[in-house]
Amino acid sequence: MPKQALISVSDKAGVVDFATALVKEHDYVILSTGGTAKILAEAGLPVTEVGDYTGFPEMMEGRIKTLHPKIHGGLLCRRDKEDHLAQAKEHGIDMIDLVCVNLYPFEATVARRDATFEDAIENIDIGGPSMLRSAAKNHASVSVVSDPADYDRVLAAMKEGDEALTTLRRELALKTFQRTAAYDAAISNYLDGKLAPELEGGTLGLPTQLNINLKRAQSLRYGENPHQKAALYGRFHECFEQLQGKELSYNNLIDITAAAYLIGEFEKPTLAILKHTNPCGVASHMNLTTAWEQAFATDQQAPFGGIIVMNRTLDAELATIISKIFCEVIIAPDFTAEAREIMAKKKNLRLMIARDWMRAESLQEVKSVIGGVLLQDRDSKRIDPREFKVVTKRKPTEEEWAALLFGWRVVKHVKSNAIVYAAPERTIGVGAGQMSRVDSSKIAVWKAGEAGLPLDGSVVCSDAFFPFPDGLIAAAEAGAKAAIQPGGSVKDAEVIAAADERDMAMVFTGTRHFKH
Ligand code: 5GP
Repeated sequence: MPKQALISVSDKAGVVDFATALVKEHDYVILSTGGTAKILAEAGLPVTEVGDYTGFPEMMEGRIKTLHPKIHGGLLCRRDKEDHLAQAKEHGIDMIDLVCVNLYPFEATVARRDATFEDAIENIDIGGPSMLRSAAKNHASVSVVSDPADYDRVLAAMKEGDEALTTLRRELALKTFQRTAAYDAAISNYLDGKLAPELEGGTLGLPTQLNINLKRAQSLRYGENPHQKAALYGRFHECFEQLQGKELSYNNLIDITAAAYLIGEFEKPTLAILKHTNPCGVASHMNLTTAWEQAFATDQQAPFGGIIVMNRTLDAELATIISKIFCEVIIAPDFTAEAREIMAKKKNLRLMIARDWMRAESLQEVKSVIGGVLLQDRDSKRIDPREFKVVTKRKPTEEEWAALLFGWRVVKHVKSNAIVYAAPERTIGVGAGQMSRVDSSKIAVWKAGEAGLPLDGSVVCSDAFFPFPDGLIAAAEAGAKAAIQPGGSVKDAEVIAAADERDMAMVFTGTRHFKH
């Protein structure tokens, strides 16, 4: 018996060449479905239509083409079992040795803006995944090709011999189940938004079931610490391009993400230095070198081994200055050729081009908890001063407003409890991640002192409300003249009174920016 291939593809690219090689070089006979059979026959290849073989025509507008025991028997039959082979013979089932199937374009269909629900339903392939799964299950005897990119590899393995083909079959079987799983995930994710019962989270815009289907993009040397295994999944590399430097580490990836989120907050030319996801210093200035100087002035010690991010092209002038400092990663939308040359001397330094900060806007975040994961919208709410309310007798001056709006953008990206002292367009002191807000404030004040930056006339920004007046009073004593915070504490009245007593201006944002 010649070997038999079943070919039924939606994406017909390369299929004629593949089928030709199967027939001419490897003596296969071809079974095929309507559209595919037609183009193979037009290319002069001998083809048997599936319907002619099964005795059942394609019907119901193609919903039923290959769903038949003569097809699935030929795929699933164990060649090493006498009874399987006897049953196949009894029912006139021929063996199928290779399946080449790619699926109706469900993902592409639902990605189209004008696609209707009916279009989506009709593009759910049923027979295709069934054949892929039957063949992949029986990969010991059947080759399964679900991706045109593999046609040449299959032909090469056939040429090489049985052992090469058997090895490749195993890999292709796994790839096939990954493909059908991703296909079903795409279908259920789409339907989740359409068919989920009202109260089941469908209305929240969050899925009732989380189908995370991300390909491994990179194995990492280790995780947060050297004894932890780790890998990167998904499409990070579509958003960032690495120009030079050591391989990205687990911690780099987290820091780069935090840096991108922070800088995405600013339209004006801005530069930020981060360490362990927290900003050490941030400044906006028409001249990026000045922005660097002001950001670096906030903290000249912590940036050692940190990350520098900017939202404008890095030029030679700034590259020369930054290259004198040891940092792990520099991220910019672009680098001038001269800047690249300067940085090229620092072989380990990772230079990253950020393709599009705004891609981060609509992301959702996943975090592990014991027994599961949490899913939430990213805190991507744009800062809108129209929602802000001045709650004190004194209104902020123009200069104070500039500092408040700047500091509020920064404090959103500092780990809670977060306190930032700011001047217009620059940070003065950052206090991150303390268990008490007062402690965060003390650290921010201390850091400003270490940096030699005056707090007098600064503003204080707090990611969540001051639960008591003490935090605000401490800020006033440090020299802050205005404050910005969400408000909402039961003691708001006391906090406002404390501000009024000290002639401080205070703004309530109505929005909290906890970051744990
Ligand atoms: P063709 O263009 O050859 O007529 O159809 C090829 C497509 O039909 C492939 O994408 C294949 O996965 C799909 N297909 C094959 N058998 C069946 C079936 O029985 N039912 C459905 N719905 N699709 C099938």
